[in-house]
Amino acid sequence: MFESPPAHRQGRVSAMVPRCSDEDETVRTMSNELRIEDLRVAIEGKEILKGVSLTVRQGEVHALMGPNGSGKSTLSYALMGHPSYEVTGGSVLLNGCNLLEMEADERAKAGLFLAFQYPTAIPGVTVANFLRHAVTNIRHPDRKEGEDLIPMREFRKELRAVMDELGIDPEFARRYLNDGFSGGEKKRAEVLQLAMLKPAFAILDETDSGLDIDAVRLVSEGVNRVVQREGTGVLVITHYQRILNYIKPQFVHILLGGRIVERGGPELVEILERDGYDWVRAKHPVEAREAEELEAAHAGADSF
Ligand code: ADP
Ligand code: MG
Repeated sequence: MFESPPAHRQGRVSAMVPRCSDEDETVRTMSNELRIEDLRVAIEGKEILKGVSLTVRQGEVHALMGPNGSGKSTLSYALMGHPSYEVTGGSVLLNGCNLLEMEADERAKAGLFLAFQYPTAIPGVTVANFLRHAVTNIRHPDRKEGEDLIPMREFRKELRAVMDELGIDPEFARRYLNDGFSGGEKKRAEVLQLAMLKPAFAILDETDSGLDIDAVRLVSEGVNRVVQREGTGVLVITHYQRILNYIKPQFVHILLGGRIVERGGPELVEILERDGYDWVRAKHPVEAREAEELEAAHAGADSF
């Protein structure tokens, strides 16, 4: 199988930015923001994101919207450090630290949480067990593999309280993570992670697709809860406006052909709901054409 070097290890992007280790407390507390600047990302040599800039401060809710194929998921995969997504330019700083130089687990420890459209199943690992490991690793970033987890009693108590508050059946914690889960159950697992991990920043990609209204509500309540209580900064990535009726963004960005072409407040959500994306394409014909060309070049494959 062909393997390209991981984008975040290629080291040509923003080499001047500190990578931040545990000693760099001063750098880390410098700014409470996720700052994406002029980010360029290519898949298999083809540029998909063509200079995206977007800053999310803690406690803010942003929505990144755009028609299918505009590059929304490309942004979330690049921020995760997926090896197929090559960062060819720009920078991403998380509280002043160079996110693109971090391994996936370092990104999580630095306070970034990513929820995916299609989460992986882990048969044999229960939701509770998975969460206990995840919570321990985030709260004790220096812990070595094999060292103690947070005490079971303490963890159970906390988990039960959070599940209770989110209205999730306690039995759910005993199931294998995402194994045979319905769309709604996957979201439940995600929201539970979010509430337990209390990340500084959360990115949720297409969290509403294929969900019934109860599941959308559950996700939204969970997200709103961490925003209010923990000051989590949230980027909701979505094609549809529906979830944004429950998670109210203060800032809305519209992506087309790999570029943010419109920015505004919640009124943009209403306009898209009423008029769709045609006016965006008409107003930005160059980006619309590039989006079409990309889509045609990649025709047949599933957009994810
Ligand atoms: P969105 O999430 O906004 O629907 P994506 O980020 O999934 O968009 O896709 C952006 C563009 O990248 C699309 O034109 C898509 O066809 C293209 N693309 C996605 N995956 C690949 C790939 N593996 N190779 C080439 N192009 C791809
Ligand atoms: Mg997508």
